[in-house]
Amino acid sequence: MPSAYRRRQKLLRAKLASLDAGAFVTLSQPNLLYLCGFTGSSGALLLDSRGATLITDGRYTQQARKEARGARVIISQESLAREVAAVISRLGIGRVAVEAQRLTLAQFTSLQKGCPAQTEWRPTEGLVEAIRAVKEPAEIRCLREAAKLGSEVFRRALPLIVPGITENELAAEIEHRMRRLGASRPAFETIVAFGPRTAWPHARPTSRKLRRNELVLLDMGVILGNYCCDLTRTVFVGRAPARVRRMYQEVLKAQGVAIRAIRAGASGAAVDQAARRVLRKAGLERYFTHSTGHGIGLEVHEPPRLAKGPQNHSGQGQNEPLQAGQVVTVEPGVYIAGLGGVRIEDDVLVTKSGGELLTDASREFLEL
Ligand code: ZN
Ligand code: ZN
Repeated sequence: MPSAYRRRQKLLRAKLASLDAGAFVTLSQPNLLYLCGFTGSSGALLLDSRGATLITDGRYTQQARKEARGARVIISQESLAREVAAVISRLGIGRVAVEAQRLTLAQFTSLQKGCPAQTEWRPTEGLVEAIRAVKEPAEIRCLREAAKLGSEVFRRALPLIVPGITENELAAEIEHRMRRLGASRPAFETIVAFGPRTAWPHARPTSRKLRRNELVLLDMGVILGNYCCDLTRTVFVGRAPARVRRMYQEVLKAQGVAIRAIRAGASGAAVDQAARRVLRKAGLERYFTHSTGHGIGLEVHEPPRLAKGPQNHSGQGQNEPLQAGQVVTVEPGVYIAGLGGVRIEDDVLVTKSGGELLTDASREFLEL
């Protein structure tokens, strides 16, 4: 078994031991990939004290045998949950940890039905995600490559931003360039917004045409080698009014201050506050309606979070210190109804001495 899987499984086993659970079950695609290498969209991994078993169906026979180098493979004719239950019963495992946020109620019910009545279930949250949050050197290399590719896609999108193009057309052109440059797919539906619609932080592209003297906001996710890049840029077509230019400069300043606040040991909440403080001084804080950033890796949103408040819904504190090897986005934004929005988002590696930018697209205010 490749050493990365051995290491990850060992870290997970240590967590299971502290929960006094004999096994761990995941049906989550990114967690399967992380723990054993399988990229298929349907499978279950059972990790116990002796090893790891991947259960999938006949559609993935060859793929699982080739990819899942961190687990033994069972090709099942049954439903996944029923086959997992059969393995649990066969191994005589009494206490099983499951992922409360990942498992559907239907999957859990059929797991329960298939296992002996005395089986105890331990709901867990974010066990694998906490391990995934700190990237291995090979993962950092992948994230670096993805970030470079995302930045290149943005540069190649710039000449396409001309009056008359629709948001949909621009999104399609961007996604086309991603794949042509080697990405496997967009990490999420590309956000393209023109004019007043830039004030919607997560606008979906429409058939609206770009006019002169408008803001353009692009937020794009790229997956390269299973790892994501998440990049946002806001540009202006024409000569921007002073209000817009000032809004951009304040967001850029907030982002710079937040990036400089990043280092191992700083809390996610402190980084968030650093960005918020800049916008507060500029009288723009109330228009900054989301958190400053999020972890990025196999998924485009993963721990840690750079946000205010001590805890998120899964109980992972934003006050926990950041660790070297984590990769986060830093993406302050200001959204003013009627005027428009500005967001600038980059991907940053947390190191002992500070934050290192992985994305390298220009952050200067571009007036096209
Ligand atoms: Zn984004
Ligand atoms: Zn993001």
